[in-house]
Amino acid sequence: MSKLKYERPFIKKMMVGMLDKTGVQSEYTPFTHIDGNAVKELIRKYGSPVFIMSETQIRSNYQTAVRAFSTRYPKVQFAWSYKTHYNNAICRIFHQEGSWAEVVSGFEYQKALNNGVPGNQIIFNGPDKKEEELRQAVANDSLIHIDHFEELYLLISVCSTLEKKAQVSIRVNMDTGIYPIWDRFGFNYENGQAWTALQKIAASNVLSLAGLHTHIGTFMLSTNAYAVAAKKLSSLAHHCKTDLNIIVKYIDLGGGFPGNNTLKGAIGTLQLPTVDEFAEAISSAILNAGFQSSELPMLILESGRLLVDDTGYLLGTVLANKKLSDGRKATIMDFGVNILFTSFWYDHKISPAQEVTPYQEDTVLYGPLCMNIDIVREHVSLPLLNRGDHVVVHKVGAYNMTQWMQFISMRPAIVLIDPQGTSHVIRKREDLTYLEQLEQIPAHLK
Ligand SMILES: *Cc1c(COP(=O)(O)O)cnc(C)c1O
Repeated sequence: MSKLKYERPFIKKMMVGMLDKTGVQSEYTPFTHIDGNAVKELIRKYGSPVFIMSETQIRSNYQTAVRAFSTRYPKVQFAWSYKTHYNNAICRIFHQEGSWAEVVSGFEYQKALNNGVPGNQIIFNGPDKKEEELRQAVANDSLIHIDHFEELYLLISVCSTLEKKAQVSIRVNMDTGIYPIWDRFGFNYENGQAWTALQKIAASNVLSLAGLHTHIGTFMLSTNAYAVAAKKLSSLAHHCKTDLNIIVKYIDLGGGFPGNNTLKGAIGTLQLPTVDEFAEAISSAILNAGFQSSELPMLILESGRLLVDDTGYLLGTVLANKKLSDGRKATIMDFGVNILFTSFWYDHKISPAQEVTPYQEDTVLYGPLCMNIDIVREHVSLPLLNRGDHVVVHKVGAYNMTQWMQFISMRPAIVLIDPQGTSHVIRKREDLTYLEQLEQIPAHLK
């Protein structure tokens, strides 16, 4: 007869449907399957921890966002923000759906080309574009979004040796009523720098002004901020026509729409605007800005987190439980902030992956790193979990798989579940060979 597992005694008043201190109902319903795949089986096959991405959810999010905008505005184009998740398989899903690429570095630019994106459908953003990268972008007719005057002058000198015009836009920063203003990127609208940059572009005979760009922030909760941004870029576009005789072909409002996640410190659930509400604010602002219908600019969006945050899961395993000196319970997991960077700003929802006791208690969730700040949740109400039990962390698809690092433990595999429910490794789990491949030992240490 097998011995029953010991479970320490625990007393708690049972109150069904009780709310916790923040007015949120605690989440302890077991979450056992992702797109038809059992969590236990995924961990058995791919190890723990492991990231799981849902292709079905990515496609559905993309189509929902495109529909929200294209039903309200005639010319809409999305460009996938590579830095949000630049695994090639993920990027290719977006490109198959019709998305262009938005990159902020030379290697991301190369990835987009390798993923088959035509040069003129790559938007090149960011403050650090190397001369060689600019040369390639000009040759490929990519849309170069200029960040500062030094880059503008460098681009002019690059073009003069290429005998080709560069397709450019400027990044504009502005007061949209959201503070602090992200004014370190691009040219300021209110102080006239943006206009000066546009005049310099118009005066050069090697730059061709194609569009105007802004990216006002991230996890933005105000639809009005986007309406203000759209109005200000539209007004710049009008000046380009009247004063510089240039018709601006596109207005790019960047990314920044919030994923449906819980910001740390938020009391209860924040009422996030829907993508329809953002689309309504933006498209009405441009449609009301007085463009002739034949000169209506294309609207470009570079949404990142909105499209992938809820498509990613992190599966992990309980290592141990302990009692802290102040009496609180602590649970140690096999994943930490090294692979879950967003736990610095989100209270990620965490579910047990198997049937649980009806009891729950306040717990601090730690990762496995030998580092005091390795805290996944400072305060979460969870049922009793024992060593070997599995958990699912929700909505981890944005930024974690690009900002992760192999501090103390290496990066786990990423697995994609396709729309038929078949799972595919899209990035292998790292090993020591991978970690050491760039190291070199000087002769005197051999
Ligand atoms: C990061 C970034 C995005 C994507 O931002 P989200 O907040 O994830 O939508 C879009 N455009 C630019 C220029 C960016 O730097």
